[in-house]
Amino acid sequence: MKKILFAASEALPFAASGGLGDVIGSLPAAIKQAEKDCDIRVIMPLYDKVGKVYRSRMTKVLETTVELGWRRQYCGLYSLVEKGVTYYFIDNEFYYRRGTLYGEGDDGERFAFFCKAVVDLLPQIDFYPDYLHAHDWQAALAVVYLKCMYADREGYRDIKTVFTIHNIQYQGIYDLYNMGDLLGLHERFAPVLEFNGCMNFMKGAIVCADMVSTVSPTYAKEILSPEYSHGLHHVLEMCKGKLTGILNGIDREYYNPAKDKELVRNFSYMRPEGKKECKKYLQEYLSLPVREDVPMIVMITRLVSHKGLDIVKDSLYSLLEENVQFVLLGTGDFAYERFFDEAARRFPGKMRTLLKYDKELSKRIYAAGDIFLMPSLSEPCGLAQMIASRYGTVPVVRETGGLYDSIRDNGWEGGGNGFTFAPYTGMELYGAVKRALNAYESKEEWEKLVLKVMRFDFSWKKSAKLYIQMYERLN
Ligand code: ADP
Repeated sequence: MKKILFAASEALPFAASGGLGDVIGSLPAAIKQAEKDCDIRVIMPLYDKVGKVYRSRMTKVLETTVELGWRRQYCGLYSLVEKGVTYYFIDNEFYYRRGTLYGEGDDGERFAFFCKAVVDLLPQIDFYPDYLHAHDWQAALAVVYLKCMYADREGYRDIKTVFTIHNIQYQGIYDLYNMGDLLGLHERFAPVLEFNGCMNFMKGAIVCADMVSTVSPTYAKEILSPEYSHGLHHVLEMCKGKLTGILNGIDREYYNPAKDKELVRNFSYMRPEGKKECKKYLQEYLSLPVREDVPMIVMITRLVSHKGLDIVKDSLYSLLEENVQFVLLGTGDFAYERFFDEAARRFPGKMRTLLKYDKELSKRIYAAGDIFLMPSLSEPCGLAQMIASRYGTVPVVRETGGLYDSIRDNGWEGGGNGFTFAPYTGMELYGAVKRALNAYESKEEWEKLVLKVMRFDFSWKKSAKLYIQMYERLN
């Protein structure tokens, strides 16, 4: 039986801030379904954000201490089973009782502790995996610790490592001076972690891992170029032989408009009528004019620059001159929050800006929208366009990364599942949305497109098999 351990900083439904949480909450179960003969487990921090419903289902596995540099820190371990997968939660209130997942001054230490605990705990839970699969910079040091400090130890010797880059923009960069003090790593390992005079957790994992993957084939190519690599292209070029790209999927049960309890009316491609009710409900809820004939453009996104918000800003006032409604749900950089809030104030009959992270509301917006706008400057994979499709909201996307791999333009001769554009300008974005609005005018054409988009298969089925093949290549 194959044993796989995922190490990651978030997972739905326990705690999430973006697409990583979706993936860690759904990929393990999909792998288990595709490969019955495997024991796949996940380990993540126990944040205070993890709700009571889940805590009440947890059992305490152990209490121990973990050495991190000169520190000796308390470490509790809890577990529960979700969708047939064991999830472990590392408890330390000093590190994880912060009201937030990331953005703390000591994030480097918080996630170094997490990674050290992951590796330290294996003998205590009697689970030496065949594959340790770490995700993004927060879990990167688990691979580094394993290769640098544990590789010769009994039990650890045969563990193969995979590191997945969900977003190369966030690398975990800290002062090199902290290597011994913070991480407890000997200075001879400096060449592993050092990059541009600093410690770079992601670079360390790229160098150490047996296999590096990212979340779409196009992004795997893009990050080899300086335009997308955030400085790591040379490192990746050196490791190109072990780099691969596998497109993410979505959890079709969690995102299922036919059963979703958050919706006022359920719907499916067999019975699509309920979508109209969802739109009416949202218009009422947001005090927008209740108009079925007015196309509703929606965005659900972190408000950060690589999500393409600068070109949304450039074209927003032109878009709002059209006969549309615009709903944006997101949190992030203050400057964007202020801009979109102000725009909603200026166009009270057309636009609403909801500055929060709200999973339930997001599903109601996915269900109510007609057009889903995702004009990212770069996009490793993107799940929002897949979720939108599942809820019959037609994506308008920029051709980059996973957006390019998942959405084809409606004008494409093989038949598309959205509207796409390439040059990163407000004009191009406006042009693509305008084509969608024109299509919306022909009721019959639009309804056909909506049904086609809903039927598109963005499940994990294919990709879960690709992950299994990737593990097998390591043997
Ligand atoms: P990223 O991981 O870069 O944020 P993805 O498209 O891969 O982008 O995944 C974003 C996920 O986070 C989706 O599930 C999306 O619905 C969700 N999300 C983003 N912003 C919000 C928000 N403000 N409220 C609720 N869910 C959100």
